[in-house]
Amino acid sequence: MGLMENVPKVLDPLPGGSRLADAVDYVVNWARSRSIWPLTFGTSCCAIEMMAASMARYDISRFGSEVFRASPRQADLFIVAGTIVEKMAEPLVRLYEQMPGPKWVIAMGSCTISGGPFYYDNYSVVKGVDRLIPVDVFVPGCPPRPEALLNGLVLLQEKIRKETLRNPRRPGEPLSAPAEDRWARAKEAWEELERIKDEQMAEARAKFAAEHPDYKPPKPPRAEKPAFPEVAREPAPHAGWNARAVADAVHARFPELKLFRLGDVAPEVLEARPADWIPSFEVPSGKLLEVARWLKDGELKMDFPLLLTSVDRLDRFELVAQLMNSSTSARVELRVPVEKIFPEGGSYAAGEKNQKYGATAPSLVPVWPGMGWHEREIYDLMGIRFEGNPDMRRIFLEEDFPGHPLRKDFDMPGRAIPRHA
Ligand code: SF4
Repeated sequence: MGLMENVPKVLDPLPGGSRLADAVDYVVNWARSRSIWPLTFGTSCCAIEMMAASMARYDISRFGSEVFRASPRQADLFIVAGTIVEKMAEPLVRLYEQMPGPKWVIAMGSCTISGGPFYYDNYSVVKGVDRLIPVDVFVPGCPPRPEALLNGLVLLQEKIRKETLRNPRRPGEPLSAPAEDRWARAKEAWEELERIKDEQMAEARAKFAAEHPDYKPPKPPRAEKPAFPEVAREPAPHAGWNARAVADAVHARFPELKLFRLGDVAPEVLEARPADWIPSFEVPSGKLLEVARWLKDGELKMDFPLLLTSVDRLDRFELVAQLMNSSTSARVELRVPVEKIFPEGGSYAAGEKNQKYGATAPSLVPVWPGMGWHEREIYDLMGIRFEGNPDMRRIFLEEDFPGHPLRKDFDMPGRAIPRHA
C-alpha cells in the first residue's frame, strides 16, 4: 500500500475530503480488480484446467485477468493448481514472498485445498496450501472446470473491491486448524450399518430355515463356454535374436548363471517358455559389472537400459534391470540380490518398523550412464547405495526425509504438518 495508505490522512481533514477518499478507494480497487496478473504455477492435472481457462474458449482476459506471468515479481495473483508435495513447499512460499503486494491467492482443486485424494496414508503431500500461505479464494473440485476458476476469479474481484484505504488488506497468517477426520467417522458409521445388516440377514435366514425345513437351493445353471481355437504364439522376428537365442548366448558366456525361478538353462526349459518371454537371469552382485559390460559390448549389444528398479523381499533387496538391443529389440533381464546390512547386534525381524540398515550394490553408470537417475530413485525410495554412481543423492524427497518410503518396514513419519503452525 505504502503511499496510498496516507491518502485518507491527507484528504479526511479537508472539506468533502472523506468522499474524495472513498472515490479514490473505488477507482483504485476497480483498477486492481480488473487487472489481475496471475503467476504460472500448476503442478498436476488441475493445471490443465487452469491453462484451458486462459485459452480462447474460456478466455480469462474477459474478466480482467491478464496473461499469466512466469515471474512472481510481475504477478499479483497466485493460482496454486495441483498437488503440492513437501519438497515443493519451500519454493512455493519463496515465490509467494517474491510477489509484490497487494497480492492474492486462489487455491484451485482438492489437492491444493486439502491434499485431496492423497490426504490419507501419504508421506509427501501437503494437506492444504493454506498451511503454507494465506488463501483468499478456494475453488473446489477434482479438477474444477475452467468455469469454476472464472467464478473464483469473480469472487476474488468482489473481495478486492471491498478493500478500503482506511482499512487496507493485510494478508493473514497461514491456517493451522486441525482437520476433522471425517473419514474415520464415516468408517464407524459404515461398520455400524454393516453390523445391523448382518444381524437382519441372519434373522431372515433363520426365519426362512424354520419355515422351509426341507428347502434345498437349486443348482445355478452353468453357461456354456464356447471353445476358442488355440492361437499359436509365434516369436517376433527380432533379426534372429529371439528370447531363446538370447538365453543361449548368455548361458554360453556365463554358464554358472541360473534363470530366475527356473534354474539351469536347459533346452526343455527354454522350449516351454512363451515366445514373448524375456530371459531373466539371477546375477550375484559381485558379478554384475562383468555381466553388464559383456551384455553391452559383446555379441548381444544391449545398448539401451530399459529400466532399473528394486524389490524389498524382507530378508534382502532385489535389483531388477532390463536391457534391450535397440536394433533387434532383443531383451534380457537381470535379477540381483542385495544383502541388507544391519548394524552390529541388529537383524531382520518381521513386523518391526523403520529399522536401521544399509545396503550397497555396484553402480551400472560406468556401463550405461542413463542408469544414474534410476539408481538415485532406488536410493531415495529404497535406501540402496550404488557404489560408483558419481551423484548419489536423493532425487524426489528432501535430503532430510526420515527413511525410505518404499521399504516394507517403513512407517509414516507424519511429515505433512503445518510449517507455520
Ligand atoms: S484435485 Fe484432482 S485433478 Fe486436481 S491435481 Fe488433485 S487429483 Fe489432479
